[in-house]
Amino acid sequence: MKIQAGHKQKISSNGNLLKPNTKTDSLKSNGVLKKTVWEYSKSIEDSKHIKLKSEYDLFIGGKWIKTKKYFETINPSNEEVIAKVAYASNEDVNKAVNAAEKAYDKVWSKISAKERGKYIFRIARILQEKAREFAVIESMDGGKPIKESKSVDIPLALAHFFYYAGWADKLELAFPGRKVSPIGVAGQIIPWNFPLLMAAWKIAPALACGNTVVIKSAETTPLTLYKLAEVIEEAELPEGVVNIISGDGATGAAIVNHPKTKKIAFTGSTEVGKLIMKQTAGTDKKLTLELGGKAANIIFEDAPIDAAIEGIINGIYFNQGHVCCAGSRLLVQESIKDIVIKKLRYRLKSLRVGDPLDKNTDVGSINSIMQLDRIKELVKSGINEGAKIYQSECSLPQRGYWFRPTFFSDVAQSHRIANEEIFGPVLSILTFRTPAEAIEKANNTFYGLSAGVWTDKGSKIFKTLSKLRAGVIWSNTFNKFNPASPFGGYKESGFGREGGRHGLEAYVK
Ligand code: NAP
Ligand code: MG
Repeated sequence: MKIQAGHKQKISSNGNLLKPNTKTDSLKSNGVLKKTVWEYSKSIEDSKHIKLKSEYDLFIGGKWIKTKKYFETINPSNEEVIAKVAYASNEDVNKAVNAAEKAYDKVWSKISAKERGKYIFRIARILQEKAREFAVIESMDGGKPIKESKSVDIPLALAHFFYYAGWADKLELAFPGRKVSPIGVAGQIIPWNFPLLMAAWKIAPALACGNTVVIKSAETTPLTLYKLAEVIEEAELPEGVVNIISGDGATGAAIVNHPKTKKIAFTGSTEVGKLIMKQTAGTDKKLTLELGGKAANIIFEDAPIDAAIEGIINGIYFNQGHVCCAGSRLLVQESIKDIVIKKLRYRLKSLRVGDPLDKNTDVGSINSIMQLDRIKELVKSGINEGAKIYQSECSLPQRGYWFRPTFFSDVAQSHRIANEEIFGPVLSILTFRTPAEAIEKANNTFYGLSAGVWTDKGSKIFKTLSKLRAGVIWSNTFNKFNPASPFGGYKESGFGREGGRHGLEAYVK
């Protein structure tokens, strides 16, 4: 290696040795060392310890049930098949709902609240023991960086089980002055961006309140839900209390339309949410919808700029931007627009895109080819409508589905990229001059899920957030979650809340 003697070895923040790029580490003729470009060594998470079957049947009535059709789930970072999973037909959905009804009538509605709590605690503790295995599988099946599944998805999912286990025998405190009772069978449908976490948001409060469950995973990410089924077996939950199935939109529709599902909890797109609302209208089903978003992240000129830059990066590039509450519309005060764009361009260069199982990866792969096509189509519209594009110049792996971290400046409110949910690593930057203009622009959306406000004035934070129409608002931070804190939307982002004491409301009558 052509490095001067005594040259210090560099260590990354996670303790890895940084390897010098030997192409650029050469001595010039005058003996001076050329500028060294330091590269991270690969640090691939060990996946040998994970246990996956090659084929997953449906988990119904505490048993693994075969069906007629199976489909493949792939790893989007290399397009390799990980396993086959069962496709639940209408007949299978019927079996699952009947199993849940039987479990509700015979067992779950009869046992004490304290017993219910114990089972949920048991699920939480087993999940905690298996957290590493779950994190690896979540990253393999969905493409998200291992550092995110390890530090966000899995810990938050099990924290929700712990949290709601605690509520099971305290419902009279959650609903003072009210005598509540469970509803019956809850039908639950979840998306692919946070599979285990979305399942925890739904299953834990449903069980705590005394309901039984039929839950369907998204087509591209069924695996951690079937691993959860194994945890449920290990926890010896009475059979049929939680039924886990996989399939496609038709499977979801069969859950919604089944006469015995008394409550529907849906997280997914606004388009499908509207369809479900129509289908449940006129029935006595309880409904909660957690839908899309187009959050405004507002940066005032007095904001701590470097912290805000990190908040912008976290807001839009976390989980490849596959986040319903992503800070996808950046509203920057005009006086600081140039410095914010300059710093963002610089920061984009250091985002590491690549293997989701590499602990140094910041941005993983796009979840599916369908999602990649949607991102590309919307980015093209941004260019055609006249916005200015900036993209990371990082190299991308040969196989798999990838999209460079991207942002657009000079975005007008009429542009599609300012209105439609891109659900990818693409940020749209708009500007404002006064606080009133910021609020008007932030609220100028069909959605109302989340928002961010960055300023060093506490009074400005309170004044702004009181006028924003969004379910969750972060100030001087972004994308922070806690099981005790309710989450949900306004307008076309849906209704009902998940998380916190509020999350219990949907599961009682
Ligand atoms: P999606 O297409 O609406 O699908 C969501 C779930 O619904 C999937 O399990 C899907 O099955 C199923 N489904 C599809 N058509 C259905 C139908 N007609 N009836 C019943 N179920 C049906 O959404 P997605 O693309 O998976 O997820 C991305 C969307 O979710 C984004 O819009 C995002 O903002 C939203 N999201 C919202 C939140 C929130 O808390 N507000 C959280 C996460 C994501 P298949 O996968 O098999 O098609
Ligand atoms: Mg997959």
